[in-house]
Amino acid sequence: MKKPIYADNAATTALDIDAFEAMKPYLLSEYGNASQPYFFSRTPKRELKEARATIASCIGAQPDEIFFTSGGTESDNWAIKCFGSPSDVRTIFTSQIEHHAVLNACDHQFGNSKCAVVRLPVDSEGIVSPSVLHDAMIEEVSNRAVVSCETKLVSIMLANNEIGTIEPIKELADVAHKRRAIFHTDAVQAVGHIPIDVQDLGVDLLSASAHKFNGPKGIGFLYVRKGTLLFPYLNGGAQEREMRAGTENVASIVGMAVALKNNCDAIEQNRAHIQKLEKLLIALLDESGMQYSRNGWQNKLPGLLSLSFPGKDAEAILHRMDLMGICISTGAACNSVHTEVSHVLKAINLEDYLAKGTIRISLGKNNTADDVQSLTLALKKILLSE
Ligand code: PLP
Repeated sequence: MKKPIYADNAATTALDIDAFEAMKPYLLSEYGNASQPYFFSRTPKRELKEARATIASCIGAQPDEIFFTSGGTESDNWAIKCFGSPSDVRTIFTSQIEHHAVLNACDHQFGNSKCAVVRLPVDSEGIVSPSVLHDAMIEEVSNRAVVSCETKLVSIMLANNEIGTIEPIKELADVAHKRRAIFHTDAVQAVGHIPIDVQDLGVDLLSASAHKFNGPKGIGFLYVRKGTLLFPYLNGGAQEREMRAGTENVASIVGMAVALKNNCDAIEQNRAHIQKLEKLLIALLDESGMQYSRNGWQNKLPGLLSLSFPGKDAEAILHRMDLMGICISTGAACNSVHTEVSHVLKAINLEDYLAKGTIRISLGKNNTADDVQSLTLALKKILLSE
């Protein structure tokens, strides 16, 4: 069988081989529970500490500001459901283009009479404007009776998973802090792919997921700036300084740290490689005579391309690519009755005939120029033969 071409790195990535090797001992021989006091747990405990320090150093944080979770979804849910104190009256400002881990967690909060949710619009490139956030925060306050224990959270993603747009997080965090709100960013698509420094960004909470940066699945972390009011989401044992209960997944945590360090050490090299592939892809598409447009492409994640083919059916493209052994994604999902355009494409006001023909190609560090050649050839076969 021909080697598959994997161009869906925004969905998940291949496990870094060093990460895999580093994980093995903690699955096979060093399997002691890191929370036990005896000698057999000493190595897992030490590695846990080292992994925390490594991860912290990759994002400019302190080790005790890193809390391990089961991944991006849990980190997002924790930040959104547990900021402030349980008895506070809460308001959340978020955007229309967040991942469902944020949007659905907010909806869950909305059912709570003590929580209001404001979803901010974006421009045609998917940018949340700091002035839009500022105005929304002022309006929300003037619309409400003054309450003594109100806590506000602003949750805006660092980079969008469908169109790759990078948000002006530093400016947005600044607006939030001026209105005494806690600032959370879902950085799941960005960590390990673009340089991130939590001090420079000024964020209070940041979500990350290992499988998006060549680490194992089912592990991630939440960065919590010292002094940020957050209560535990999972209750149980005393792990993670009584903030996140559950026996530590040492092997995955070690693998996550190695994968993140490897990606961060080679971040510029990977970026240059991926951007070169991206340029090649665009040049080949332009040469092919196919009609297409790009979404959210001014300031975006390297390798993530949202392409709209006018009047075409993205689902059909995906299935035909699949039969050719090529993995990509769509911006619209079909059910038996109609095609449902994604909330992100709706939010950037993409017309239906473009949205329904939108695919996402996400190139990663393991892709090659040959992959890009085959991918464009396949697209050409599918779209120009119709
Ligand atoms: N946030 C964003 C932006 C994502 O792209 C994803 C996954 O696609 C998640 C959150 C959820 O992460 P996980 O798969 O680790 O739960």
